[in-house]
Amino acid sequence: MDYIKILKEIQSEISSLYTKGEVASYIPALKDVKADDFAMSLTLMDGSYYSVGSDDLKFSIQSISKIFSFTLALETYSKKIYKRLGVEPSGDPYNSLAQLEYENGIPRNPFINAGAIVVMDALISNFKDTDITFNEILSFIKKLSDNKNISYDQIIAESEIHSGYRNLALASLMKSFGNLSHDPRTVLETYFKMCAIKMTTKELSRSVLYLANDGFDPISGFKATSEQRAKRINALMITCGHYDASGEFAFNVGLPGKSGVGGGIVAVVPDKMGICVYSPKLNKQGNSLIGTKALELFTTKTGLSIF
Ligand code: GLN
Repeated sequence: MDYIKILKEIQSEISSLYTKGEVASYIPALKDVKADDFAMSLTLMDGSYYSVGSDDLKFSIQSISKIFSFTLALETYSKKIYKRLGVEPSGDPYNSLAQLEYENGIPRNPFINAGAIVVMDALISNFKDTDITFNEILSFIKKLSDNKNISYDQIIAESEIHSGYRNLALASLMKSFGNLSHDPRTVLETYFKMCAIKMTTKELSRSVLYLANDGFDPISGFKATSEQRAKRINALMITCGHYDASGEFAFNVGLPGKSGVGGGIVAVVPDKMGICVYSPKLNKQGNSLIGTKALELFTTKTGLSIF
């Protein structure tokens, strides 16, 4: 398949959409991006790589990081983690409080904010220290992307520490129900740092290859997780990876995917490739508007959807 030709077609077909959507501004420092930047990268199982646009631009991965922290939590806690969070789509926005109240502080899934905050709390309990926990997550991502040059953006992390009251409410509510071991602010500082990790589309498309390959990286051989857990993570990406737009994403794109409010989306084509697309303007549900469309065009043109 001529992937470069397909990517170039996509790049030109999405250009009429640049006027649509809004860059996330509820985390003030996230606004400081070029609204019309675009990049799309594919990494295949043999390491061959195709891309268009600003594929060397490091952007804020935000909730895409939840895949990596959840994988680590599964490695650490196995099924026990499901005592503290569910595996059902929420049908609600990623930062919704209402459902968490009537479901007694147990988040619906690991990919909404409340779920990822619980995952972070569990990782801090395991690693005993917030800096060690953050470094474990970062070095896991470095191994998955086979790249040591990955770090976080302190300005974005601090911007979210100063503005993240809704996340503080979620964490405090869970604490009141006994589903958080540490102080809400302590957990959130590490969670915000994780969300502020910066990566390129190239690095991210490489980092999710383990999910296309039964849990281990086909190039380096690094075993990130078991086949069964990789299956579960992919299932959760399909059903919960785009919050209250997960059904729509499955309907239009048909791949396991995970978005972040920084404008990135990763997607997995089982046994074939990892994909990442970046475009910072978001739709109403907080997912990259052009990124979603680009992935839809990709599966339509290539027939590479799981359905
Ligand atoms: N850091 C963001 C938040 O917690 C992540 C949300 C997202 O990317 N959907 O609000």
